[in-house]
This record gives sequence, C-alpha cells and structure tokens, in this order.
Amino acid sequence: MDIELSKADLEFREEVTAFLDGNAYKPGEDYAAWRLNWFKAAAEKGGWDVPKWPAAFGGPGWTPTQHYIWEQETATRNLPWDLPFGVGMVAPIIMTYGNAEQQARFLPDIRARTVNWCQGYSEPGAGSDLAALKTKAELSEDGTHYVVNGSKIWTTMAHIADWIFCLTRTSSEGKKQEGITFLLFPMKQDGVEVKPIITLGGSHTVNTVHFTDVKVPVENRIGEEGKGWTYAKGLLAHERTGLAGVSRSLVALEKLRRQAGKVKRGNGSLLDDPSFKSKLARLEIDLKALEYTELRSLARAAAGAQPGPESSIMKLKGTEIQQRIALLTTEAAGPFAAPWGGASVGPSFASGGTQSYLGSRAYTIYGGASEVQKDIIAKNVLGLKAKSKAS
Ligand SMILES: Cc1cc2nc3c(=O)[nH]c(=O)nc-3n(C[C@H](O)[C@H](O)[C@H](O)COP(=O)(O)OP(=O)(O)OC[C@H]3O[C@@H](n4cnc5c(N)ncnc54)[C@H](O)[C@@H]3O)c2cc1C
Repeated sequence: MDIELSKADLEFREEVTAFLDGNAYKPGEDYAAWRLNWFKAAAEKGGWDVPKWPAAFGGPGWTPTQHYIWEQETATRNLPWDLPFGVGMVAPIIMTYGNAEQQARFLPDIRARTVNWCQGYSEPGAGSDLAALKTKAELSEDGTHYVVNGSKIWTTMAHIADWIFCLTRTSSEGKKQEGITFLLFPMKQDGVEVKPIITLGGSHTVNTVHFTDVKVPVENRIGEEGKGWTYAKGLLAHERTGLAGVSRSLVALEKLRRQAGKVKRGNGSLLDDPSFKSKLARLEIDLKALEYTELRSLARAAAGAQPGPESSIMKLKGTEIQQRIALLTTEAAGPFAAPWGGASVGPSFASGGTQSYLGSRAYTIYGGASEVQKDIIAKNVLGLKAKSKAS
C-alpha cells in the first residue's frame, strides 16, 4: 500500500480545505439554516455530503486516499452535527436490500438531513445476544400491515428521532436468527412511548422505547419477512468501522499533548513527567498501528470488498484508545476535571473532564461489547474454535 500523496491527492486536499474553510460556521449565524446549507453545498460538490455512499446513489466515488484525506481534514473542524443512523446506517440497508420505491421514498430526506432516525435493535435481554429479541410484529389478516408490540432499550436519540429502523420478531419457529423482520416506521405516532435513561456521565442520549399496537404498513418492510437478521448483520460491520474514530483520536491526542505542555510539573511541564510521557507514547504507537489497519481496510473497500472481521479489530482497539485518551485527559487536568454540569475551574480543557471520562465507558459497550468483538476476532481472524463443553 502506497501512502505517499500524489500531486492529484495534494490538489484534492487543497480543494477539501478550501471547501471546509469557505463553508465554516460564522459566529451569530442561524445554526439550523447553516447546517442544512452546508449539506446542500457539499452535495453540489458532487456527493461530498454522503462521502461513503456508492456513486450509483450519488456518492463521490472517492479513492481510499481521498477518503483518508477527508477524514483527516474534517476531524480538525467543526462540521454540522449529524447522527450516524440515517446516512451511515439505514441508508446502506435501503440501498442494498430495499426496493426502488423505498429508495426513492427514503433516501432523499436522509441525504438532506431533514429526517432524524434511530436504531431499534437492543432490548432488555437482547444486547450481545441480539437474536434473542422478542418485540413482536404480527401481520394483519388482510396482509396490509404489521402490529408491533414490545420494548427497545438504549435507543440513542429516540427522543428526537422522526423514524426508527427496527428489528422485530415475526416468527418463533426454527433458529432464533430466523423469523426476524426489518421494519421502518415513524416515531411520532400513537403507541410509541419514549422514556429517558440518564447515563453515568449525566447526559440524556439513550432511552427506552415502548410499542403498543403500532401499525406498520407492509410497504415499510425491508426485504423479505424473516430475513432481517441478514440485513442487520451487514449493517453492524459498517457501524463498527465507523466507531473506531481514528482521525478524531489523532486530533484529541494532539490536543492533549498541547494541553499537557501547559500543565506545570516541577521546573518543566507534565510532558517531562516520565509516567505521563510513557502513557502518551504508548497511546501514540497504538493509534499509529490502528491508523495503518484503517488504511488497509480502506484499500480493501476500494477493491469492492464489504467490511469484514477487521471491523471488529477497528471497533475494539479504536474505542479502547478513545477511552485511554479520555482517562489521560482527566489525569492531565487533575482535580480541575471534577466540576460537574458546566461548572468550570482551572484550565479550560479541564472543564467537564470527569463527565467525558465517565461517558467514554460506554464506547466499549455500544455497537457490540469488547468481549463480543474478541470472540469474532478469535473465530474469524485467528481461526480459533470454541472449546467444547466436555474439555
Ligand atoms: C450509550 C449506549 C448507546 C447505545 N445505543 C444503541 C442504539 O441506538 N440502538 C440499539 O439498538 N442499541 C444501542 N445500545 C445497546 C448496545 O448495543 C448494547 O448495550 C450492547 O450490545 C451490549 O448489550 P447489553 O447491554 O444487553 O449487555 P449484555 O449483552 O447483557 O452484556 C453484559 C456483559 O456481558 C458480556 N458478554 C455478553 N456476552 C458475552 C460472550 N458471549 N462472551 C463474553 N462476554 C459476554 C458483555 O461483554 C458485557 O460485559 C447502546 C448502548 C449504550 C451503552
């Protein structure tokens, strides 16, 4: 894999920075209007609003190096907020398994970011063992709609979502992976109740969602009834690769290095402290290794391959690194990291440090817990077999 940037790549980088700088948010601007205009301007650049979409659906058809450049440049800037559930998660499912009518109906709004989506997979009793899910969808006698009953849990941003993509059980026959059906339906309707869960870090991002006799037209079913597990599995690999956050970690680590340089220790700074220095160096080495794994994965994607088990390596290592950066940031801030809920004392980088650190504990749980990723790596990368119960 050649990692030297060609002249064309350097020109592309200039084009990207010119676009990002030219469309940056200006203080005092109407944020909501700027956000939607930003995506419009990015679309006019030729699919820059949906960098990972295939060219056939309006994506830019970039090379892996162009994706890498985009990731690097966007990580250092304030982009408009964007939930991963629409463009990054349900859209690839609709493109791959949805019919032409569903593609025409859902993709334009997803792309314009005018509709917020949430992901209804996990349930009480069905997280790592997702196929054990019980939310029931019964087909009406006339075959026109499903009636959905059950509960989802940990549903991120359900409280602002307009639509949900939801795994439901349409049959209990056979293996538990069979009889799962993938449905799309609006959140703002009778029978859908959202309740907040406040997490360890004190924030409200996740919820429980309860369904009581929710009617879902059959036109909103993706693919075949009972085949939802296959569709959902494809999505998980995309989700895991996205959660690795390599570019974000590179930026966060650089920021931490700068901040640590300003924290006094004896005659020097925290960067002269051997223990801190060694933790920082270990993080930099691990992150560099992950960056190369990501580049390999991008090269595979450019050759047309779907994300494979390497997405589990990316998720496992990427989220561990993010947690270690959060921990080291609180270490650098010392007691100034403690104030809660917007209160601030000491250097500005310390503000909310403990809350961020506690929030970061979830990184190795969502998108598939670390233990589960290790199982996948053991089986599909290392070729290890599970020990038989007898041995
Ligand atoms: C902040 C946050 C946001 C989330 N957002 C969403 C969302 O938007 N939509 C959604 O559907 N879900 C979401 N989730 C749910 C997430 O996917 C699940 O929490 C995750 O899959 C783990 O499931 P669980 O919580 O039921 O834990 P469990 O599966 O009960 O696991 C408990 C513990 O047992 C371990 N364990 C389980 N099975 C094994 C095994 N086979 N071998 C070894 N150890 C094992 C786990 O690693 C974990 O440590 C979110 C979770 C969090 C924390």
